[in-house]
Amino acid sequence: MTATQTMFSEPEERVALRESVKKLAGKYGHEYVAKQAREDGKMTDMWLEMGRNGFLGVNIAEAYGGGGGGMSDLAAVLEECAGAGAPLLMMVVSPAICGSIIMRCGTEEQKKQWLPGIADGTHLMAFGITEADAGSNSHQITTTATRDGDDWVLNGQKTFISGVDEAQSVLIVSRTEDAKTGKLKPALFVVPTDSEGFEKQVIPMSWQAPEKQFTLFLDNVRVPADALVGDEDGGLWQLFAGLNPERIMGGAFSCGMAQFALDKAVAYAKERSVWKDQAIGSHQGIAHPLAKIKIELEQARLLWQKAAALYDAGDDMEAGEYANMAKYAGGEVACNATDVAVHTHGGNGLTEEYGLGNMLVAARLGRIAPVSREMILNFVAMHSLGLPKSY
Ligand SMILES: Cc1cc2nc3c(=O)[nH]c(=O)nc-3n(C[C@H](O)[C@H](O)[C@H](O)COP(=O)(O)OP(=O)(O)OC[C@H]3O[C@@H](n4cnc5c(N)ncnc54)[C@H](O)[C@@H]3O)c2cc1C
Repeated sequence: MTATQTMFSEPEERVALRESVKKLAGKYGHEYVAKQAREDGKMTDMWLEMGRNGFLGVNIAEAYGGGGGGMSDLAAVLEECAGAGAPLLMMVVSPAICGSIIMRCGTEEQKKQWLPGIADGTHLMAFGITEADAGSNSHQITTTATRDGDDWVLNGQKTFISGVDEAQSVLIVSRTEDAKTGKLKPALFVVPTDSEGFEKQVIPMSWQAPEKQFTLFLDNVRVPADALVGDEDGGLWQLFAGLNPERIMGGAFSCGMAQFALDKAVAYAKERSVWKDQAIGSHQGIAHPLAKIKIELEQARLLWQKAAALYDAGDDMEAGEYANMAKYAGGEVACNATDVAVHTHGGNGLTEEYGLGNMLVAARLGRIAPVSREMILNFVAMHSLGLPKSY
């Protein structure tokens, strides 16, 4: 049976993987994340423990220190972390985007240099594509790489780049001098965060989280020839080797967050009673929205599982379509689930103690990044339905 043939249960190994991750993530849980966010701390202890246990690198080939699995495994790991209330945002970036791109497009030397550290968590690689003046239109990015002898020199700015303060390097998406205008021919460079000319400025966000976002300034940043991952003329597929995993992980992240909110709300609805002995969950006004979330969550989970199975089977075209739909469905259910969870808790839904108010904002991220809900609808309208391009 091939990976994409219909199967509605996960293989035994993945079920066991989920159990182990759930146990580890549960040890940290929502309290840990909230404390780190409040006190300007990081997720480092959990991150490194996940790495030591092989969970961060499940998708990376065994030859480079990974677990030899695929995106289906990595996304399941992230879903379990988020489901336990301790999502690791940088998993979307370091092992999923950067790890996948290096595995598929890197040279043997690059794989040996970067992948073992990405797999065990000791090397965190951030990812920078977004630019203030380009936004959703990545074809408009202006960060440029120019050859100088054997080196490359990078100039430009990036914005909203996550985790740069924790990262040892950033995979920067740029364009070469020859491809300064027109359709994007991405040239991807591993840029160490301590490079001369590389500066970061934190963006104050209204979302309280240990992971911060940064504006980056690249002012004549010089990197050696082997910092270029893939081919400077390799085209968009090199980027999508990482962006499809990013969307699958986005979907799984959001599903985990929705699961966490749903579990919390159901537990509260069973306990809380304000009309004699009747739990609030006995009122359909409370029960039906929760049941609806359960259905939406199952739908969204099936979508990321299908997208991941297609990606793992090497069907990039179809994986792209399903990765987009999975990210959309995940973003929607996470927003709906956190909203319903807040409502189920009444006033407690907005107290710091219950931690759901901040989750409302966090869930919103799934509708905006890494690709917005509208850009996914544009994609589906055009590619799945054959409608004219609208922009
Ligand atoms: C918390 C956070 C973390 C992030 N981390 C990273 C990271 O690590 N690396 C990175 O590179 N980027 C990162 N991003 C950036 C993220 O990918 C972008 O915010 C996202 O792609 C949207 O771009 P924008 O913010 O410029 O919105 P804009 O492109 O300005 O869009 C604004 C609004 O207009 C809508 N819109 C735009 N064009 C169209 C159209 N043609 N049709 C219909 N509607 C349209 C959008 O859907 C959106 O609602 C992060 C963002 C956030 C918020």
